[in-house]
This record gives sequence, structure tokens and C-alpha cells, in this order.
Amino acid sequence: MKHMTRKATRHVNQNEGLIFEKSSPGKAAWKLAPLDVPEVDTKELLGSAERKDLGNMPEVSEIEIIRHFTRLSTWNYAIDLGMYPLGSCTMKYNPRVNEAVSRLDGIANAHPYQPEKTSQGALRIIKTLSDCLLEITGMDAITLQPAAGAHGELTGLLLVRAYHDAQGSSRKKVLIPDSAHGTNPATAAMVGYAVENLKSSAQGMVDIGALEAQMNEDVAALMLTNPNTLGVFEQDIHKIAELLHAKGGLLYMDGANMNALVGKVRPGDFGVDVMHLNLHKTFSTPHGGGGPGSGPVAIKKQLEPFLPKPVLISKPDGTLGFDYERPQSIGRVRSFYGNFGMFVRALAYILANGPDGLRQTTEDAVLNANYIRKGLEGTYDLPYSIPSMHEVVFSDKIQARKGARTMDLAKRVIDYGFHPYTTAFPLIVPGAMMIEPTESESKEELDLFLEAMRSIAQEVEEDAELVKTAPHSTRVSRLDETAAARKPVLRWKPTP
Ligand SMILES: *Cc1c(COP(=O)(O)O)cnc(C)c1O
Repeated sequence: MKHMTRKATRHVNQNEGLIFEKSSPGKAAWKLAPLDVPEVDTKELLGSAERKDLGNMPEVSEIEIIRHFTRLSTWNYAIDLGMYPLGSCTMKYNPRVNEAVSRLDGIANAHPYQPEKTSQGALRIIKTLSDCLLEITGMDAITLQPAAGAHGELTGLLLVRAYHDAQGSSRKKVLIPDSAHGTNPATAAMVGYAVENLKSSAQGMVDIGALEAQMNEDVAALMLTNPNTLGVFEQDIHKIAELLHAKGGLLYMDGANMNALVGKVRPGDFGVDVMHLNLHKTFSTPHGGGGPGSGPVAIKKQLEPFLPKPVLISKPDGTLGFDYERPQSIGRVRSFYGNFGMFVRALAYILANGPDGLRQTTEDAVLNANYIRKGLEGTYDLPYSIPSMHEVVFSDKIQARKGARTMDLAKRVIDYGFHPYTTAFPLIVPGAMMIEPTESESKEELDLFLEAMRSIAQEVEEDAELVKTAPHSTRVSRLDETAAARKPVLRWKPTP
């Protein structure tokens, strides 16, 4: 494997083998002291729960079991191992101070059923985070209940529907640009709206002419990602908000890309009525593996009566508490108050950076994406040339001539020791390669990545087959991704 930028040996461990295959009778990873209390009849103690047949549990020594789990942990890729340039996902580093704070006794062991008077510290954390997020977004009120970005979208659109219902208006449509994240149309459909596609202009932004033609009094909202999924700021955002508001519609902003805006501009100042944030992207709480996440929804005043309940309020005696008397509320969207541990991490991150630090973060994220863009321009096709913000979208057009597509290139990236970029999204770019380095990466790491990407482009010219059959350094080679998702094999079974 030539042009090897960084040895990928961390994925490979020759001395592997499955723990079941190592089993031999009588071996044990534990030794108990002799019994010095009366023996208990397990049948009596456990009743029908007693399990007699342990079903071929492996019998192994302590070192074997330790090596087994340690080895498994090295087969995964993680942000703690290297760059994770998965566009649209903002895979930034999760600072350890966040973890340390979230594990403090009083925080980790707080119980949601504790009375309000013994929960003032926890409530203060929720209040302080809410205030910080309102300052950052320029919005009027917020709920921290939603447990993910898509869940935030659902909550936001339920608020939109409740708002229009309260006005006696039964609008049926939601406009969504063709560059949108797949969750947007799915959410609108779940809330019962008809989704109407809004096409992008040649520059990759909302086509104002198309919006003017499609906007009418049947449109409840426009769901807009800004910067959009091409990593491009919607330059006509004021005009877009104006066109919507003139016909009584609301502007929903998918704020998953706030990493490009924090400390620079505020959605509340450019006409957004309702938006969600992804704490597990922009605000450095861990993500991946299905959770836990956090997708707070921030709104303008007119939507406040409909917020999920309970709503955190300051009481006349100066303490914090929850208000359950919210007759127009859409109800609860999550048990208790949301993923509290994530609030703690996000607040730790915000306070540790401070306003200037957060602004610097945004600038570094944009700088890093543009460094990648400059470094790969010419090597890979750049379908939209207007300025990039925190991520950059190339296409596989040049490499496709040799038969290497975005997925092949991404698989080869693994052999160079990096997590792949995002493939085939946004859909408006055929063969998309979406790269988001985030602010976490140093120039040295970015240079390694650029070198890897250039080297892969060269490999495509010289030996496209090498790229089309990648990865070569991983424990399992190319998988049938559909089958892996639809029919996952999660249990080891002996081969007969
Ligand atoms: C990540 C993302 C979402 C969905 O967030 P989840 O927490 O994964 O549900 C929605 N929109 C955009 C633009 C995103 O990048």
C-alpha cells in the first residue's frame, strides 16, 4: 500500500479470535473466597428466574476476557483517535472538562422526582443554559425537552401547527428546499403537512423567484437550513423571511449547522420564528450510536403559549420551578425535562469558551473548511463555487471517469486512518463528497488529510481497482451496507 499517510495498523490485530473459540472447560476469570455465611437455596431465592443452563457461556481466563473487550474497542473509529470529517454531523472534539462536570455527584445523582426546593442547582443549570442559547440565537424562549435534532424539528413543527390552529387557519403545506436534510420532509409529513419542494438556484441557494411563485396562504412554514447543506449561507435570508411573513407563514430554521454562525450572526435577527439546535453537534456533547442527544427548540414570542410543558419559570420568591398550567401547550415531548447530562456538558462548553472563545470556534471551523477547499480544489470537482462556511461539498466527477465513485473514495479514506467524509449528500450534488473538519483539528492533521485525499486521487489514475475494492486494512472489508442495516447480525453463532 503505497502513499500510506498514516499506518492503519490500529484497525488490525493479528492475534484476534472470538472469545467463544478460546473457551476451554474449567477456566475462569474469577476466584471467590470460601463461603463464610450460610448457603442460600437459589431455587427459593430466584424461583422461576433461576437459570440452570447458562447456554455455552465461554470459560476463559481474566487476561483473555480483558484482551477480548479491549481488542473490540479498537475496532471502532472515534473522534478521540483522529479526524472525523463527516459533513453535516459536526464531529468536533468533546472536551474532557464537560465530562468531569457532568459526573459531579450532585449533578450525576440528581433525580427528576426530587422536590423543586432540593433541585435548585439543577434548575439553575437548565436556566443558565437556556439563557445562553437565547443569547446565541437571538430568540425569545426555548424548550430543552427534545432529545435529538429530528425530535426538535418535530417539536418545532407541532408548535407551528398549534400556532396556525389557534388563529383558526388550517394551512396544509410546508416548503422545503431540495438541498434539505432528509429529516426535514419526514418531519413535516409526520406532522400532517404536504411537503412542497423548493428548487435551488444555480448558486445553490433558495431560488427567490420560485419562492415567490410557490408562497401563498396555504403555506404554514418554510423549513430552511442555514447555512444550507452545501455549506453556503443563504444570502437572501431577509427577503426569504419577508416573503413568508407577508403571507402569514413562519420561517423554521434547521439550526444543525450553527457551528458556522455562533458568535457571528443570530437567527432571531434575520427573521427566523422557530429553530432547533443540536447540542450534540455545535455544543460538543458526544454523539453517534443513537444517543443520547439534545435538540432544543428556540422560538419567537408568538409561539410561546404552545411550548411543551412543564415550562421552567422564576417564581415570585426568587426560586426556580416548573409551570404545568399551560392550557395551549402542545404537551410533553420527552419524559421529565430532556437529557439533563447533555445540558451540563453543553453549558460547561459554553462557559469554558466564553463569548470570544465561541466566536473563535466559529471562525476556526470556517477557516479549516476553507483550508480543505483550497487544498483539494482542482484535485476534486467543486460543483458550487460560492464561498464555503463550515463545510465544503466536492463531487466525484473527475474520479468517476475511471469508475471510482464517492463511496469508493470514502472507503479508501479508511485505509489512510481517517473516518470517511459524508457520501452522496446533499442529493442535489451527484456523487457528493461532503467534508466538515470542524475547529478541533490542527493544521498538521488537516495536512495529513489533504495528503491522503490527493494520494487517493492519484491512485485512481494509476490503479482504480485498488480504490474500488477498499478498504484493505480493516478487520472486515467492504460490507453490503443495506444488508448490514436491515439484517444486522448481532449475535455470534458457532459455524457448524
Ligand atoms: C444532524 C442533522 C439533523 C438531525 O439531527 P439528529 O440529532 O441526528 O436527529 C437535522 N438537520 C441537519 C441539517 C443535520 O445536520
